[in-house]
Amino acid sequence: MLTALKGNILEALSPDILGVHPNSYLVLENGAVVGIYPDLPENMAEASVEDYGDALILQSFADMHLHGPQYEFMGTGMDKPLLQWLESYAFPTEERYADPAYARDHYRILAEDLIRNGTTRVAMFSSLHTDSTLILMEELEKAGVTGYVGKVNMDRNAPPYLCETTEESEQETLRWLEASKAFTLVKPILTPRFAPSCTERLLAFLGRLKAERDLPVQSHLSENLGEIALVGELFPDCRQYWEVYDKYGLFDGRTLMAHCVHSDERERAAMKLRGVHPVHCASSNNSLMSGISPVAQMLREGQSVCLGSDVSGGTTLSMLRTMANSICAAKDRGSMMQDTAQVISIEQAYYMATSAGQSFMGYKTGFTAGERLHAVVLDDTGLPKLPNITLRERLIRAVYRLDDRHIRAVYSEGVRRL
Ligand SMILES: [Zn+2]
Repeated sequence: MLTALKGNILEALSPDILGVHPNSYLVLENGAVVGIYPDLPENMAEASVEDYGDALILQSFADMHLHGPQYEFMGTGMDKPLLQWLESYAFPTEERYADPAYARDHYRILAEDLIRNGTTRVAMFSSLHTDSTLILMEELEKAGVTGYVGKVNMDRNAPPYLCETTEESEQETLRWLEASKAFTLVKPILTPRFAPSCTERLLAFLGRLKAERDLPVQSHLSENLGEIALVGELFPDCRQYWEVYDKYGLFDGRTLMAHCVHSDERERAAMKLRGVHPVHCASSNNSLMSGISPVAQMLREGQSVCLGSDVSGGTTLSMLRTMANSICAAKDRGSMMQDTAQVISIEQAYYMATSAGQSFMGYKTGFTAGERLHAVVLDDTGLPKLPNITLRERLIRAVYRLDDRHIRAVYSEGVRRL
């Protein structure tokens, strides 16, 4: 069946190239993209057209780093320093996800809110609880959110109520991987919480699993200076933080590394060489006073940088806000260094929020023929009608001024979900 969306179509073809199609048709066959046309071709004349008028049709968003159990207290305790915040909110909340019924209620809300915000692709941390992790995968798939979810591994340096023995962690990971086969749109991703929370035996186990089953990996890297010092103490044979993951085979083209705020030239070169994807989380870096990531530098070096909301170190689920925060953070870094080369463009922000995540998941960039539609329709027509405003300018303005209330439709896997 042929269908088409009509409106102003914007696609992130590369970090520097914005595909702009004013007042055009995005034609689909059974939910898969056929192409973008200024006029409906004659042989497609029977397509049923959803006309969005002057609205913006964007790729939907890929949030490549967030913590599912933390969503419920997002924004709470933001006046506390990191350790107090973890002890008062993050850890006690995560413990409640030992209860599958509790997890079900909260994960259903998260899944619906993701779709409401136009996020159809994620890479998400669950907690260490296997059954609740499976419930998270189920609720995401039901709502139309695709991507990856990880059962967290932690067998040291965690509060006693959130710490597994190494054997438990290994066995539960295997049980979770087996049960994950039930899902088609949400896949498992190995998730050592971060190097300090895993023993070398557990990291070695995860590295073997990754190699045997060709699994992706997500973790944290060089988020703050205290953490980097701790890694140095726990892994004295590794010269730099990344070498811990690398030593255990957890650092390659199928790896997401959140933050990379303090990754120096050597660490960035290692990521580039191995094809690791850094995930920039500007809101969280600000809230937890981690520092400001050299994101413009990473993009210049050709790294495939993605964006993450990092809920709930980050304080918004909206990827529009996350893009704006990234642009602001890059300017703050530019101000501090008195260096305009630290600034990022709207093309780069939009690419990081969409196509970068898509490509981690094995898809091409932009709206590619043959791939099932992931799109969001943003209605900016209530904003002032400026003379001669371009679609590129409307995109920047939309990123800064619009939120979920302006989202008219969301498509995931070719199906309208909102
Ligand atoms: Zn995180």
